[in-house]
Amino acid sequence: KTILVTGSTGFIGSHITAAFLESGYLVRAAVRSQTAASQVFSTHSKYIDRLSLCIVPDITLHGAFDSAVSDVYGIVHSASPFHFNAERLSEIVDPAISGTTSLLESAYRYSPGVRRVVNTSSLAAILDLSKGIRPGYTYTEADWNPVTADSLSTADPLTLYLASKALAEQAAWKFMEDEKPGFTLTTICPALTYGPIIHHVESLSGLNTSIADFYRLMDGTCAAVPEGSPISCVFSDVRDVAKAHLLAFESPDAAGQRYLAVNGSYAYQQIVDILRSEVMQAREKTAVGQPGLAGPETYRVSNSKSRSELGLTYRTLAETVVETAYDLLRIEEIL
Ligand code: NDP
Repeated sequence: KTILVTGSTGFIGSHITAAFLESGYLVRAAVRSQTAASQVFSTHSKYIDRLSLCIVPDITLHGAFDSAVSDVYGIVHSASPFHFNAERLSEIVDPAISGTTSLLESAYRYSPGVRRVVNTSSLAAILDLSKGIRPGYTYTEADWNPVTADSLSTADPLTLYLASKALAEQAAWKFMEDEKPGFTLTTICPALTYGPIIHHVESLSGLNTSIADFYRLMDGTCAAVPEGSPISCVFSDVRDVAKAHLLAFESPDAAGQRYLAVNGSYAYQQIVDILRSEVMQAREKTAVGQPGLAGPETYRVSNSKSRSELGLTYRTLAETVVETAYDLLRIEEIL
């Protein structure tokens, strides 16, 4: 069975690609350029016989995926801009939404064999940050970020990113309701995601947003321990997120569902404490902060639906932190 995967050049998409390849699927990765295609081949060189590439230069164009979807059984869509630099809607919200809808439309029109679509959404589509840190509140899949497109004309880059994920996921569900295609949709909502890096990394200054967030804690650029992460105080491990996509893809009961794929709450202080006690090479540069100091009481995010319905299990913060750090040290050596 061939699965079309978008975002394979990225941090999470590369792990999703690996998870499907390792499970025996044929993967067709949609990338933007020939150079990107070579990089994806090199990341998954072990599975070269099961991997094919197709070039989709601009995912926002109507019909962009018309040939990419041909004869595929399923689709995992993870390509979407993730950064906090956007100044305008058109830089981040538009590609998130139109990348999603153009893909669904191509599948609907040109690939009657498509049965399942899994979309990488985000905790950003669930949190309502206008309510603050909400101590005592537990977010679940029933919650939605209440943002609307017309409230965004003067929005800051963080709000624009959060909105891009909420509005793209909403557009996907609306498409399903309006068109009632022959495939089902499931969305996976990770929090800020750390973990090993398997995709091609050009330079340490070009790390993807969530890994860059982690790396500044260990490379000495962050002299003091920051109080809060940009989006949440909840993390995900990239391997658990990839597994969530696979399990959701394979579970008939996951059709029509959204799943939070989150490992647990954390504070930056816990990350630096783990780094300093477990990763010798990081000790010198990592900020000390106030060892053992607990983070503030904030909202919680439940992962019980993914545990009970998908059978997902989650790594601990210590596992994630240590393995992310060792991988960054490996990359430092190479680059
Ligand atoms: P990366 O930046 O590592 O990867 C983003 C991927 O999306 C790349 O493959 C990139 O392709 C592609 N992409 C971005 N913008 C465009 C565009 N305009 N047109 C075509 N392709 C594009 O990010 P992550 O792996 O972290 O993010 C992957 C997904 O996971 C996103 O949907 C993100 O919102 C979501 N997510 C990420 C979290 C995290 O903490 N990392 C948390 C929650 C959700 P190219 O290489 O060509 O630029």
